[in-house]
Amino acid sequence: MKQIALYGKGGIGKSTTSANLSAALSEKSLEILQIGCDPKHDSTRMLMHGEWIPTVLDLVRKKGEANIAVDEIVFKGYNGIRCVEAGGPEPGIGCAGRGIIATFQLLEKLDALYGDVIVYDVLGDVVCGGFAMPMREGYAQEVYLVTSGDFMALYAANNICKAIARLSKRTKNRCTLGGVICNSANIENEYELVKEFAEKINSKLVAFIPRSPIVRVSEVNRKTVIEYAPESEQAEIYRKLADTVMKNVPDKNKIPVPMEMDELESLSLKYIKI
Ligand code: SF4
Repeated sequence: MKQIALYGKGGIGKSTTSANLSAALSEKSLEILQIGCDPKHDSTRMLMHGEWIPTVLDLVRKKGEANIAVDEIVFKGYNGIRCVEAGGPEPGIGCAGRGIIATFQLLEKLDALYGDVIVYDVLGDVVCGGFAMPMREGYAQEVYLVTSGDFMALYAANNICKAIARLSKRTKNRCTLGGVICNSANIENEYELVKEFAEKINSKLVAFIPRSPIVRVSEVNRKTVIEYAPESEQAEIYRKLADTVMKNVPDKNKIPVPMEMDELESLSLKYIKI
């Protein structure tokens, strides 16, 4: 079982990337479980054709952990992808990881934490106190940083990198950095900037996803690009990402090296055309 996690700043397009990645992986006849961990609980929406599924944390609050059945938290979406939303507290407050840990424990108890690939879609903002929890607990084994060339997105990616580096010092660590995914914001020199960022943190750029109007069109049609526009160039890009992720075997001894703030600023400045 491959347990991958996409981390990145809120609004960067993590859920879109995760859902399209899951959809592309499901085309390979793999069994996929996608778990969203974000107070917005919209990670799996496009896989569920626009349906907002109940969150584990809400159900735990309402019914108590002992009274929840598996079909109340795991929902079958596009191409048989199993979808779960951890939920969370009020947006921006953070839950110190309670949401995601309660979800893992419950899924384990209900024997529902299985599949060929588990895709975690985790908010990596500094506002979220518990974002390192899935890594610490050994659930997020291969982490992909989703960023654009936007400074704050790189800042968030660098913070997540700090968490991985810190955890790597622990003997029982099972979490590695799989690479950086650039979800383009159409910023000038973005490819070069994010590529250099990835190298500077001792990793690599594994995918560059161009900005495409088909993403929005698919979303208003409540579908992933893979489902709505399977023949499009953008769908091919997500399939390529799925191939890359499946082939990727990150070196567990390669520890990321987060950048210092002034280094990160200088890097961004290098590519900004004034
Ligand atoms: S750990 Fe963060 S992202 Fe996860 S449920 Fe808690 S607040 Fe949400």
